[in-house]
Amino acid sequence: MTVTHALEVDVLRRQDPELADVLLGERERQATTLQLIAAENFTSPAVLAALGSPLANKYAEGYPGARHHGGCEIVDVAERLAVDRAKGLFGAEHANVQAHSGSSAVLAAYAALLRPGDTVLALGLPHGGHLTHGSPANFSGRWFDFVGYGVDAESGLIDHEQVRTLARAHRPKAIVCGSIAYPRHIDHAFFREVADEVGAYLIADAAHPIGLVAGGAAPSPVPYADIVCATTHKVLRGPRGGMLLCGAELAERVDRAVFPFTQGGAQMHTIAAKAVAFGEAATPAFAAYAHRVVANARALAAALTAEGLVVTTGGTDTHLITADPAPLGVDGRAARGRLAAAGLVLDCCALPHADARGLRLGTAAVTTQGMGEREMPIVAGLLASVLRGGTEAARAREDVRELTAAFPPYPR
Ligand SMILES: *Cc1c(COP(=O)(O)O)cnc(C)c1O
Repeated sequence: MTVTHALEVDVLRRQDPELADVLLGERERQATTLQLIAAENFTSPAVLAALGSPLANKYAEGYPGARHHGGCEIVDVAERLAVDRAKGLFGAEHANVQAHSGSSAVLAAYAALLRPGDTVLALGLPHGGHLTHGSPANFSGRWFDFVGYGVDAESGLIDHEQVRTLARAHRPKAIVCGSIAYPRHIDHAFFREVADEVGAYLIADAAHPIGLVAGGAAPSPVPYADIVCATTHKVLRGPRGGMLLCGAELAERVDRAVFPFTQGGAQMHTIAAKAVAFGEAATPAFAAYAHRVVANARALAAALTAEGLVVTTGGTDTHLITADPAPLGVDGRAARGRLAAAGLVLDCCALPHADARGLRLGTAAVTTQGMGEREMPIVAGLLASVLRGGTEAARAREDVRELTAAFPPYPR
């Protein structure tokens, strides 16, 4: 951890030891367990420095040069930097970096393009759609009429014929492509073609792969989608937050959909941290990282298959893997608990071929801490051994501690 961070923890320890313990405890947990949650990563000390800066104090409703508050001349520079860097990184005509989260970005995209009651075609939740893709528990399912497409039960791949058939039958106002659990590249040209055929907008929810796109390790949705929604904290390795990219003609609608329609004051410390992350993501080192993330995911998928798990779609193009642990005699929900006790932290997910839950895991975080294709079979071996009951949780926990000790996420 950086010197400044150590000092800050010291300040907190003197004033509020109870909370300082929480911070240090979480840092210890992250450093000594395996972060295999596909949506998580370790931001750089520079990103953390921007997040912990006095920019957190500043109110800045509006956009650079047009704020509802005084004293914004310096934070305006941070937001202009973030916007320019995002536009350069993704080759987009316009970027909005104010969305507080990925969900806020999707809400703003709908607000920019749709009216309540409009029909939207998106990947169904049981097939890997996000809550914002029509869950009845979310604003999306309450305010719009969602129709869900799916993945093929056997191959696990998006059923393109079904997408086309549903689009022709329902004439949606928008089509959403993007998923929380799809391990393969999405065919953006196909979705653009279907959207054009039925006169729909195309919204790409690229929350997961946008970091791979930044590093040139996944195809970009920017040339195809009317609006691209994304998070900045997954593979992209920035602060928690959202972002929207679009063409010049939708720029004003997108900006007004974020502020004042769905949000208030921008979080300037987060926007500064996004600028730092976009700067990092534009480097050759990040491109190499993004390609290593995919190579590690492929190695991990192959190793999990060799251990007897059924990897959905037979592998991955991205950082993300979904797998059925049933052949090892355990379902996803029980597996997640057992693995957590052993220090392997991951998620459950739906499976295309079964009602039982599967496992979803990713390689963004372990790759950031320096693990490579040599470590992936070790991780798969630990995971399988815990699930088979061959290794006690306490014993496996020690093995995980030993493995992670060689790859500190924040070297001192
Ligand atoms: C992660 C994710 C989101 C939401 O991001 P939050 O920051 O958690 O709101 C939205 N859509 C998809 C596809 C995601 O993977």
